[in-house]
Amino acid sequence: MSDEPFLPFAKPSISPEAIAEVVACLESGWITTGPRTKKFESMLAEYLGSSVAQCCSSATAGLHMVLLGLDLKPGDEVITSSMTFVATLNTIVLAGGKPVLVDVDPATYNLDLAAVEAAVTERTRAIIPVHFAGLSVDLDRLYGFALKKELRVIEDAAHAIGSEYKGRKIGSFGDTQVFSFHPNKNMTTGEGGCITTRDEALRRRVEQLRFHGIDREAWARFGKQGSPHYDIATAGFKYNMMDMQAALGLHQLPALDGFIARRTEFAKRYFELLDDVDALILPNPQSVPYDALHAWHLFAPVLDAEKAGMDRDTLIAKLKEHNIGTGIHYRAPHLSDYYENEWGFRRGMFPQAERISDGILSLPLFPTMTEGEQDRVVAAIRAVLG
Ligand SMILES: *Cc1c(COP(=O)(O)O)cnc(C)c1O
Repeated sequence: MSDEPFLPFAKPSISPEAIAEVVACLESGWITTGPRTKKFESMLAEYLGSSVAQCCSSATAGLHMVLLGLDLKPGDEVITSSMTFVATLNTIVLAGGKPVLVDVDPATYNLDLAAVEAAVTERTRAIIPVHFAGLSVDLDRLYGFALKKELRVIEDAAHAIGSEYKGRKIGSFGDTQVFSFHPNKNMTTGEGGCITTRDEALRRRVEQLRFHGIDREAWARFGKQGSPHYDIATAGFKYNMMDMQAALGLHQLPALDGFIARRTEFAKRYFELLDDVDALILPNPQSVPYDALHAWHLFAPVLDAEKAGMDRDTLIAKLKEHNIGTGIHYRAPHLSDYYENEWGFRRGMFPQAERISDGILSLPLFPTMTEGEQDRVVAAIRAVLG
């Protein structure tokens, strides 16, 4: 139907310098965790305003290690959002916890803090807020409450690298944050993630868990100054980041603020261009009563199927005929077989998350997209929705 090339909903922006850095890494003879990862970690710590940043193989790996660091006992509960990627729930289960979900704010898709407060029991150990699309949760309110109840807060900051809350970067304050560098996220290392924490004991646990439970890093052992001896402190994972990945990160991080500025311009244009499309309910980040720098990881309206006369999946299929790619972020994980069968979740429990889950679609949004391409997205939506 369309002669235009297929426009994906996301695409990483990899500079020639980043590619040259990967090649230099390959030619250096040191490919896995080593000097480039170290350098990337110190750049991240400085950018984020955190004393440490620990890189790992993915945000999922990061969440897994951090949650294991909480030493959850059977029956311990961890509260999180019902509108998130399934990794948030899976890692709670993998760390031995019970996932407790709450519904979300209809305007921002961030977890409803009143519902969080109501969901706390004597078994609650931690809360995992998700900064959906890069819009910060109200952290003063959340931390104020968590402190009073002596609960840990692990921020799923997969969307939120570069985001700010009241002028402070996510990762620069609070308990613990986990960021993602998956190719669809705002910056990428291929796969990858990083952890920032103010808890020194947790930092040490992560240090061990991410590399076999070994007490020191391999490159320090096998480098010129190193000794080949090591001890095992715990049964750990293989969750380290490779220098090949960090090589990309060294050039992605300095570009991040520019990426976010570009994303913000496209988001503004979507608001203007889609304002009168009745069947699309646009997100409303302006509704939050605090100052927040939105990272615009996603621009994800919700289709009103009744007004549109078609469901979301039909809209996605029709946009594809116009060579427009879209994504679904997310199908509410509590509606999946595993979480229904094993944890007793049912449709009807979280009405806002379910409405969003049924209608949401992520429109193309990435820094190297052109305004002409964005106009194609809008024209296709208008053509399909009439
Ligand atoms: C992408 C994502 C993750 C997982 O990140 P990976 O780096 O792919 O493991 C976790 N939580 C949320 C909300 C995400 O969007």
